[in-house]
Amino acid sequence: MDFSYSDQAQALRRHLEILPLRDRLEKLAPGLLDLSISGAVLEQAARVADTELEPLGTILDREGVRLKEGHVRTVAAHKTAWQAFAGMGWLAMSVAEPMGQGLPLPLVTACEELFNRASAAFYMLATPARSGAALLLETAPQSLCETWVSRLLSGEWAATICISEPDAGSDVGRIRTRARREDGRWLISGEKCWISFGDHDLAPRIGHLMLARSLDKPGARGLSLFLVPSTLEDGAPNGIAVRRVEEKLGLHGSPTCALGFEDSEGYLLGEEGRGLQHLFRMMLLMRLACGPQGSGVASAALSAAWGYAQDRRQGGAPEQRAVPIAAHADVQRQLLAMAAKVELARGLNLIAAMVMELAEQSTDATEREEWMMLAQFLLPLVKDGGAWAAFEVSSDAVQVLGGAGYTREWPVERYLRDARVFPIFEGTTGIQALDLVHRRLWRDRGAGLAAFVALARQDSEDLPQLAVALDRLEQTARAFIEWEATPRRAEAGATALLDLCKLAAQGWVAARIVRLGGDDETGRQMAMAARFFLAELDLRSDYLARLAMLGEARLAPLEVPGGE
Ligand SMILES: Cc1cc2nc3c(=O)[nH]c(=O)nc-3n(C[C@H](O)[C@H](O)[C@H](O)COP(=O)(O)OP(=O)(O)OC[C@H]3O[C@@H](n4cnc5c(N)ncnc54)[C@H](O)[C@@H]3O)c2cc1C
Repeated sequence: MDFSYSDQAQALRRHLEILPLRDRLEKLAPGLLDLSISGAVLEQAARVADTELEPLGTILDREGVRLKEGHVRTVAAHKTAWQAFAGMGWLAMSVAEPMGQGLPLPLVTACEELFNRASAAFYMLATPARSGAALLLETAPQSLCETWVSRLLSGEWAATICISEPDAGSDVGRIRTRARREDGRWLISGEKCWISFGDHDLAPRIGHLMLARSLDKPGARGLSLFLVPSTLEDGAPNGIAVRRVEEKLGLHGSPTCALGFEDSEGYLLGEEGRGLQHLFRMMLLMRLACGPQGSGVASAALSAAWGYAQDRRQGGAPEQRAVPIAAHADVQRQLLAMAAKVELARGLNLIAAMVMELAEQSTDATEREEWMMLAQFLLPLVKDGGAWAAFEVSSDAVQVLGGAGYTREWPVERYLRDARVFPIFEGTTGIQALDLVHRRLWRDRGAGLAAFVALARQDSEDLPQLAVALDRLEQTARAFIEWEATPRRAEAGATALLDLCKLAAQGWVAARIVRLGGDDETGRQMAMAARFFLAELDLRSDYLARLAMLGEARLAPLEVPGGE
């Protein structure tokens, strides 16, 4: 097996080839997902990731960023790479022409995996720029779009998603930052925290896409969306102070900032009081981008572990030369498990991207809504699946490397540190699971889940383990829908249900790989990972369905004996 960037580009192309629903996209937008163009773009992305970005991984981890005279400073290599990367037009991939290149989301998502493999910290600046541009195009007046969108897409200026506050993390409805209107201007004051690239010197102007309270209504109903630039039109500062740059476990090249806003001028985006709904446009794109972030880091860890396992020799007959550790059954088990996590997370990312592209392209309102329902069911699976794939595969890689894996001589400990935050930001695992139960099951009555099951069943004919996993998922989801009146029961089992959804969706990807993946080197490599996964699918779907159904009973040990 080989894991060069170019091999990865070929695997990604094969995933695009076997994507479900390609015929539907072809009808809506003929030629949009052209495979030979996709292959060429992926090869180019692989080359850029390998030559321009790969060296940054270690540099950004070791040198990070520093706060000097109230501003975040990055290292020279970071600036050079950002300018080169943005200059090549990679930020404008998904935005429609003429502003962007109008590439389809599955292809964009595939390229993002390659960039994240090279340096997830570096790519943390790209995602808000391109998803922020999409948000502005949808919500901002034309003059603001004209000023901002092309500059964001060229990397000349930058953007943040600016939601979190000290008392408003998962609970966005508790945001206290206030926006008031004065002389026709919006002035914003408050404290935001953990803002990625909240300040830096890679661009002279940063647009904070921010939620602030402009109405005296409780919860999210009082929140509006603003664009708050770091500097005013004339270049003067806009009342934004960097209070702190966090020292953190990983992602050292991505400055995580606490920001203070004092009467900072902002522009209202969309309708007042509908800030959270408007921001969903950006959040959906950012959640989708979490998928390739995860599979990108996971693929880096797999590549390191696979290579090491061929070279490192231990064990075998004492009188003979020690054998490569890759010859041991237990190491093979770990390598296959890692390969499966990468391959299936990758496939699921691209399916979700395809469904989002269908929603984008669809001209029929009902059809569009149906695609969105399916996309919203898939996105927590993609977001959380990618996140844990990155962490688990990195942890497995440390294990395969043994003591060497724990040292800084090898990059796998960095991947592990970088990945640990993936199941936390953009909504924790627990919040994704609650979203699944509250919104997808209780509010949407399981419509997205039903659409998923119907599609996946088409590939389960010769795979009883997938058919059974889908049955179990349907039964479990039905029980959860009935538990609406006893929410604690459902909430206690929500992460197990989320895991069951992820498992069934990965089973679907595995089924398509085995059936359609081809028998050349790329196809064989993918099928090996898929077959390993399918051998465990029945056991694991049984376990997760039972675990989810335990519900509140799992929490019984918390109860004080005698009811005191
Ligand atoms: C490196 C990094 C970068 C970040 N970048 C950004 C950024 O660019 N922009 C931005 O706005 N934010 C950013 N964040 C913030 C991030 O989105 C939040 O950390 C995340 O949403 C969780 O909020 P919290 O940390 O306050 O955790 P909390 O909300 O305090 O949650 C703590 C724990 O309690 C659980 N929990 C909370 N509420 C519930 C509930 N109702 N039911 C069940 N369980 C619950 C959570 O699942 C979690 O396990 C970043 C954070 C980090 C660490």
